Amino acid sequence: TKGRDQEPVPGSPASIPHSYAHSHAKANATFVILVRNSELKEIVESLKQVEDRFNRQYHYPYVFLNEEPFSEEFKRWTGEIISSPAYYGLIPREHWYQPDTIDEARAARMRHALQADDVIYGDSVPYRNMCRFNSGFFYKHPLMQQFRYYWRVEPGVKFFCDVTYDPFVFMEQNNKTYGFTISMYEYERTIPSLWTVTKEFIRRHPEHLAPDNAMRFLSDDGGNTYNLCHFWSNFEIGDMNLWRSKAYTDYFDFLDANGGFYYERWGDAPVHSIGAALFSSKDQIHFFKDIGYRHEPFQNCPQGNDHRKGKCWCEEKDSFTYEGYSCTSRWDRLYV
Ligand code: GDP
Ligand code: MN
Repeated sequence: TKGRDQEPVPGSPASIPHSYAHSHAKANATFVILVRNSELKEIVESLKQVEDRFNRQYHYPYVFLNEEPFSEEFKRWTGEIISSPAYYGLIPREHWYQPDTIDEARAARMRHALQADDVIYGDSVPYRNMCRFNSGFFYKHPLMQQFRYYWRVEPGVKFFCDVTYDPFVFMEQNNKTYGFTISMYEYERTIPSLWTVTKEFIRRHPEHLAPDNAMRFLSDDGGNTYNLCHFWSNFEIGDMNLWRSKAYTDYFDFLDANGGFYYERWGDAPVHSIGAALFSSKDQIHFFKDIGYRHEPFQNCPQGNDHRKGKCWCEEKDSFTYEGYSCTSRWDRLYV
């Protein structure tokens, strides 16, 4: 297929070290992008940076997913700007829309209550569909079955630096399951019962907890309460074997049966973070400190040698990573 066996791009500067100029995908991996037709311009901005900073040397494919068919214009422009195959997938109805088992009257009451409290997306049903889909379905899409590793990309994000190595190969060689760039505290109002439900799941399935898991990232009192720390899931590089495992499958099904994706507004970020932290050992979760990344309004700007090596255009001092509302210093403390 297009891209897979291409030689390094003709005319690429001679100064690019040969080891950097890889000519084809080396891991069983793909980019995955859930996006609407109306976000075409914003996704093209993201794609241009992913390509220039990384993928024009590696040619990993892209899977675009949508609950509506992608427009011809969407396929033409996105296909034109990338250097690898693209797949455009329709999400099965039952993976997207609010299930009939949800009591719509109760869900509507809760949406209005969240809106009255000015919770972001408090009133939105599509946002809830999106969070549930990202939590438990993207890796079940037929187009995703052929892949093991994924890199999630959103519209309108920025990549500040060259990615000077293959993060998928890094994940594979180091047995990593989940990689992040930004972490923070969740709005408690969106997940009032998520931790109670999670504790009930752990009580029923203690066998699913990984030895040496990262519970200490999530809880400061041995699992009694959730400290609201989570990895920001608009950027993820992950191993879908984690989400496809019995442990996470049972966990997601338990959460889904509870209905909290609709009765509250559970985000895929806390759900993935709890899943990754409890069902992986802490050494399997990786902070990509060398990937310069921004999703409004926060960014990770690599520091020192990483900044130089990546030829980053963000300002080192302008990084959210060790500010008060980030959980990344807490993450680092797990290892001291
Ligand atoms: P935020 O980052 O939490 O503010 O949420 P976004 O609006 O960026 O949505 C997260 C991701 O899901 C983005 O990649 C969006 O393009 C995508 N997304 C959100 N809502 C929908 C939707 O209704 N349909 C589709 N196809 N994609 C959506
Ligand atoms: Mn977003």
